[in-house]
Amino acid sequence: MTTARVPREVFAMQRLGWLLGIGLVLAVGWLILGCGGGRVPVTSAGDVDEHVIVHPVPEGSRGCTISTSDPETYALAGWKLPSGGLTYRVNPAKVPVPRGYTLKADQIIAAIKDSFATWSEANPALKLTYGGTTRARAGRLDGVNAISWQRLQAGALAVTYVWVSRITGRVVEADTAFNSLYLWYDFAIPDGYTADTYCPDRPTAYDIRNIATHEFGHWIGLADLYNESDKDATMFGYGDVQEVKKRTLATGDREGALTVTP
Ligand SMILES: [Zn+2]
Repeated sequence: MTTARVPREVFAMQRLGWLLGIGLVLAVGWLILGCGGGRVPVTSAGDVDEHVIVHPVPEGSRGCTISTSDPETYALAGWKLPSGGLTYRVNPAKVPVPRGYTLKADQIIAAIKDSFATWSEANPALKLTYGGTTRARAGRLDGVNAISWQRLQAGALAVTYVWVSRITGRVVEADTAFNSLYLWYDFAIPDGYTADTYCPDRPTAYDIRNIATHEFGHWIGLADLYNESDKDATMFGYGDVQEVKKRTLATGDREGALTVTP
């Protein structure tokens, strides 16, 4: 939606303090646990820009619509993944589901893995590796590429944070937070339908795969599209309840994924 850049001077000062703290925690953790699996090195303070991409809940929700077009558009965010890719971790706790429905942790993890895999299938050079579960929360430059559900401001559906090295233009860390103020679900697509041709009747909830696939497009370096003619693209900036069509990439999404080869 909008990319907010924290003023560099303020951010650099804040970051210096907690980077030192994080560095200490990681160093102690390394000594105690004897491993640092799934962690990416934290780039030194002053070299990293934080990009915060906020997706609002739709105003005057139109509900689910199916795909009626195959947009050929994409937009670049300005960064790329590191050539070795990223290892992500999922925090499957606190996912609010509609009353009468359940989602097990394994289903949530599978939904996230499949959403990343959609991009890796479009371009195998985009290495996005599952590193297990985590108790980390999204939104902190802590060495964990975390996907979590947490209470965000009302009106924000999901927020993706991307930290980018100012020197290399590569992603240092990325996190996605889904707002636990809203209901989420993993809709099944019935036989005879695809994600592009199906709209579930119930329950009223946001499809994890639909929103996650969009968010992870930001991780790899794609930006939002806002023209109404791009409404059927995964990177279209608006999503809605029960919508599932963003699970599958449009031609432009696929071309974008090939363009951001690390
Ligand atoms: Zn977006």
